[in-house]
Amino acid sequence: MTATLRQRAEALLAKFYGYRSFRPGQYEIIEAVAAGRDAVVVMPTGGGKSICYQLPALLASEGCAIIISPLIALMQDQTQALVANGIPAGAIHSNQDESINRHLVEAAATGRLKLLYISPERLISDFDVFRNMRISLFAIDEAHCISQWGHDFRPVYTQLSALKDAFPYVPVIALTATADRLTRRDIIVQLRLSNPYCLLSSFDRPNISLSVYPNPGARERNRFIADMVRKYPQDSGIVYSLSRKGAEETYKALTALGVPAVVYHAGMTPLQREASLKAFLAGRVPVVCATIAFGMGIDKSNIRWVVHVNMPGNIESYYQEIGRAGRDGLPAEAVMFYSLQDVILRRNFADQSGQAGINKEKLARMQAFAEAGNCRRRILLSYFGEEYTCDCGNCDNCRRPPKRIDGTVIAQKAISAVCRTGGRLTIYSLVALLRGERRFDLVQDGFTELPTFGVGADMSKEEWMSYAMQMIQLGIFDIAYEDANRLRVTTFGMKVLRCVEKILLTVYVPVVAGAGRKMRAPRPEALDPERQLFEQLKAVRADVASDENMLPYLVFDDAALLDMAKKRPSDIDAFLHVQGVSEKKAVMFGKRFLREIRKFEGLSANERGVTFKETLVLFNSGCSVDEIAEIKKIKPVTVYGHLARLVDDGMITDFRKIINPQDYIEIVREYDRNPEDARDILAERFPRGLPMVALAIRRVLAEKNPNIKE
Ligand code: ADP
Ligand code: ZN
Repeated sequence: MTATLRQRAEALLAKFYGYRSFRPGQYEIIEAVAAGRDAVVVMPTGGGKSICYQLPALLASEGCAIIISPLIALMQDQTQALVANGIPAGAIHSNQDESINRHLVEAAATGRLKLLYISPERLISDFDVFRNMRISLFAIDEAHCISQWGHDFRPVYTQLSALKDAFPYVPVIALTATADRLTRRDIIVQLRLSNPYCLLSSFDRPNISLSVYPNPGARERNRFIADMVRKYPQDSGIVYSLSRKGAEETYKALTALGVPAVVYHAGMTPLQREASLKAFLAGRVPVVCATIAFGMGIDKSNIRWVVHVNMPGNIESYYQEIGRAGRDGLPAEAVMFYSLQDVILRRNFADQSGQAGINKEKLARMQAFAEAGNCRRRILLSYFGEEYTCDCGNCDNCRRPPKRIDGTVIAQKAISAVCRTGGRLTIYSLVALLRGERRFDLVQDGFTELPTFGVGADMSKEEWMSYAMQMIQLGIFDIAYEDANRLRVTTFGMKVLRCVEKILLTVYVPVVAGAGRKMRAPRPEALDPERQLFEQLKAVRADVASDENMLPYLVFDDAALLDMAKKRPSDIDAFLHVQGVSEKKAVMFGKRFLREIRKFEGLSANERGVTFKETLVLFNSGCSVDEIAEIKKIKPVTVYGHLARLVDDGMITDFRKIINPQDYIEIVREYDRNPEDARDILAERFPRGLPMVALAIRRVLAEKNPNIKE
């Protein structure tokens, strides 16, 4: 009976990734692409897009899949992960020697690679090289870059429309984490996809809690971030700033507070960036202070929190950035600080962007999200066109529904101040005036003599900022962007002043780190056994990673270690059932993790016979003797020794896979003829150790059929 496509796909998923089942939607995409159909995959970051094109690439009987990806770091990450799982893959890029690039193209052309990553620029310029290659599929990662509607338009992507002309029969699969309806349509039209299979999976990431606070100023903010680091001592976080300068400043402030951090932005040299990235990914520092230059394709599973020091320019970016947290599915926090300054800056950016209309509209939606008083997840999901009909319970507005008070008197104080100064105040000087701060400009303009000076001294600056912002949102003030962002009182504002209208204000709540989900205090002696084993396994991972010169999460990610700590496998078979343990990794690293688990369980450190089982696992997965020897770092003759014993034990029954019948006959004949010298004679013609296997086979056959002479 031949296996169905689904069975084959699931077998590959288990073998190369160590996963039991597909996530919703994944198999349908794989099936469509395997049948030669185009596809569009819209899945949030961390949703599992890679498998949607990697599995069809593995299923294809011939040809190499070409993956178009915009960032070198991303390509390297992906290829390293693939190779670590035993899948032949490579990436062509300008950061490596041209001879390597040529070699990879050659390997792809001769069918030795299953996947080849390449940048769109390179693909376009080297188009002819690929024309005669057997290509199983094209995958276009970050496909929203093709659309002007997207938030990350890259003109070179539009040239990818040439693919369908040159390769009309090769399926194209476009993948993105961020696409509204217009972008989606643009992707399909521009890539000329014909009747593509579309997967639009939910954007909900329920484990990420969402909060927005009015920006309390650098000092408070940095203290808040330092508290976050302390709250999650085992994990890491990202601080996003709008500018390089902002990232540098946060970095310096955190360092001064004794929090180890690195900085990452586009103003650094590639080498500096690489060093920051490595330190962060390897878990040597818990925090990266970054600009949006950081993050595309970052696959670190234990990022517990993301703090936005400034409001992003659109919801797509915000969503993508917070999506880097909690990829292991455990609770994570997204905290955004928001100030009017951000809105003003972003407006200027939008004006200069060449697409002012679209970008200002997107900014307005972002601002509405930041200022919202109802469930933030609902706002987010409705932005992506999803229906979500109940409140989430895991955002600041759900957890503490904003308390409202009659704010008419508070507003009147502010309105009258703005009126009396003849419309010369910005939000900042307004707050200073109300609080009675003797700022230079206020003194100079004589505003310190006004009766409104200091009428609001009973409230903090943060409180006033929050209320003044709300007054802008409520339409009491307008901001004259063209006139140094000064405040103007609207007609509605005048009505409030004259008590014709009343208003409600949301009570200001001060910023406290960890206002999100309550976490247990991280006292090591109070850890439950599972958590404790998890920590021990992390230490093993760190050792393995440094010995193998690999990034820790490429050895096993946190989700895999957690499952290990939960299942506590004591032998290699059980180990293979852990989520995220591929066959290759089981053999390469299993022993060291098993030793730790067995110790934890009070068993002897080494499982008996484990090395034979490893050989069997690899042999069954189709590795040659030389490949097994290389992976296990043992001699081929030792591998033959294992195989002989496995034959003896009845673990291998399909002998043709080890030795071809002619060789078998020749070897056993030689032993019959010449038992003394057979070994030496055969050593000249066969690999050392193969005769052991032949003899084992004969023993087994003789047992089954006594007529065969032993
Ligand atoms: P994306 O590219 O959509 O951001 P990835 O492809 O990197 O997401 O996948 C995110 C994480 O989910 C990875 O750790 C991946 O190994 C894991 N994953 C993907 N598919 C599955 C699955 N079917 N079962 C378990 N884990 C999966
Ligand atoms: Zn909510």
